Amino acid sequence: MAQRGAIRVCAAPDWKPYEAVDNDGNHVGIAADFTALMAQRGGFVLETVPTRSRTESLEYLQARKCDILALAADTAERKRTLDFTSPYLQVPNVIATSVNRPFIDRIEDLKDKPLGLLRGSDFHQLLRTRYPGIRLVEVASEREGIAQTQKGELFGYIGSMASIGYLIQKERIADIKIGGRLFDDWPLGVATRNDQPQLHAIFQKLVDSLESTERQQIVDRWFAVQNAPEFDYRLMWKILAGALIVLLGFLYWSQKLRRLNLQLATANAQLQEITLRDPLTGLHNRKYLNERISEVFSLCQRNGLRFSIAMIDIDHFKDLNDRYGHPFGDVCLQQIGGILAQYFQRDSDAVARYGGEEFIVFLSADSESEFHAHLERLRQQIEAQVLALDGVTAQVTVSMGGYSAIPRQNDRHNEFVTAADAALYEAKNAGRNRIVLRHGTVAATPYPTGSEEHPA
Ligand code: GH3
Ligand code: MG
Ligand code: MG
Repeated sequence: MAQRGAIRVCAAPDWKPYEAVDNDGNHVGIAADFTALMAQRGGFVLETVPTRSRTESLEYLQARKCDILALAADTAERKRTLDFTSPYLQVPNVIATSVNRPFIDRIEDLKDKPLGLLRGSDFHQLLRTRYPGIRLVEVASEREGIAQTQKGELFGYIGSMASIGYLIQKERIADIKIGGRLFDDWPLGVATRNDQPQLHAIFQKLVDSLESTERQQIVDRWFAVQNAPEFDYRLMWKILAGALIVLLGFLYWSQKLRRLNLQLATANAQLQEITLRDPLTGLHNRKYLNERISEVFSLCQRNGLRFSIAMIDIDHFKDLNDRYGHPFGDVCLQQIGGILAQYFQRDSDAVARYGGEEFIVFLSADSESEFHAHLERLRQQIEAQVLALDGVTAQVTVSMGGYSAIPRQNDRHNEFVTAADAALYEAKNAGRNRIVLRHGTVAATPYPTGSEEHPA
C-alpha cells in the first residue's frame, strides 16, 4: 500500500449526512469519517475524485478513474467490475410523501403510483425484485425527488431516513413527511475495483477491524450535527437587534408611561386638594374637616392626648355686608382666613372654613391654657386688623367657643364640636368679641369640670 500512493475515492456528491463532497473538494459525512479511520489504521492516504453524481462515481470506478466507492451496496450486476466488503453501515429506507397523504402500510399497495428513486441507487435492483409491481422513476438528486413529490408529480420519494430528514430540516420543508418505512434496510460497505483484489482484501480487513463503539461514535456525531444545524450568527444578530429595538421601545414607553402616571398622580392630588379647599379663603373646607377630625381625634384617644377645638364666628357680619357690600365682605373673609392660616400652621393643627363667616380650628397635645392663650392672641389680632378695599376700611371682631379635653374611650368628636358650638353661642350671648372655653372631665387635667368664661 505504501508504494501505491494515494487511494482515489469516489463518493455521492450530495447525500448528507451519509456522504458528500464539499466546496473545497473534500469528502465529508459518515462514510468519509469511516474511510478516514480506515486510512489512518491502514497507513495510507486518500484522495477524493470529484464527480457530478452518484452514477458518475460508479462509472468512474468501473472506468478505473477511481479506486474505491466509499459507500456502496453489493449488487449482482456490479460484481462484474467491483468487489464489495461486508457492510459497515445499515441505512433504513423510507418513503417521503406530501404531509396530507395517509401513512403507507404496505409498499405493494402503491402499485401504479410513481415513486422517485435516486438514479444509480444501489437499491434499485433490490426494490424491483421485492416489489415487482411498483413504478420507480429515477431522479437526478434527492432534492429533485422531494421537489417532484411536493409538486405531486411523484406520489413519493424513496430514500434513506437520515438523508431525507436532513434535507427536510436544512431546507425547512414543511409539506413533506416520512410517510412510510420500507421493510429493508440498506446494507452499505466499501466497493473496490476488482482488478486489484488486494484492495478488497485490505478494506475487508479494515471493515472487520471496526469496533461497534467506533461505528456508533461516527454515526452519532453526524446525527448530532444534523440535529443542531450550523449556528447562524447573522440570524442571531438580527434577532438580537430586533430584541434590542423591542426593548428600547418598551423602555421608552414605560418611561413615558411613568411620566404620564406621575402627571396624572399630581393632577389627581391637585384635584383632591381642590376638593378639600374653600375657593374664597383658600382654607380647608368642611369635607377636609370631616376627614381630618376623626383622624386627629382617635390619635388623641389612643395616646391619651388632649384634643382642643374652637368655633370662630365673625360678629355682626351681616351688618358689614349690608354696609360695605358683599365684595367687601368677601375680602374680609379672605383676610381673616389668612390670619387663621398663620395661627394654625403646625402639622398637628387644622383650620377650616366651617361655612359662611364661621371657622373651626382643632389641634392635639397643647394644654388648655396654651390653647386659650393662642386663641386670645388671635382674637386680639383680628380686633386690631384694619380691613380695606378700594379705599373703604373697616374692623371686625370675632367670638369663639371652644372645648378642650383628653377624649375618653367612648367619646366622639361630634360631641366636642357640639360643645364648642354651645360655647360659641354663650360667647355671642355674653356680648361677642370674646372666648368661652369649656373643658371636659379628664383625670390628667388639673382643670375643674365646668364652664369657664374668658371675657375679652
Ligand atoms: P352674629 O354676630 O350673630 O354672628 O351675626 P352675623 O350677622 O355675623 O350672623 P348672621 O348669621 O346673621 O349673618 C351671617 C352673614 O354672613 C350672612 C351672610 O350674608 C354672610 N355671609 C356668609 N357667607 C358669605 C360669603 O361668602 N361672603 C360674604 N360677603 N358674606 C357671607
Ligand atoms: Mg356672625
Ligand atoms: Mg354665623
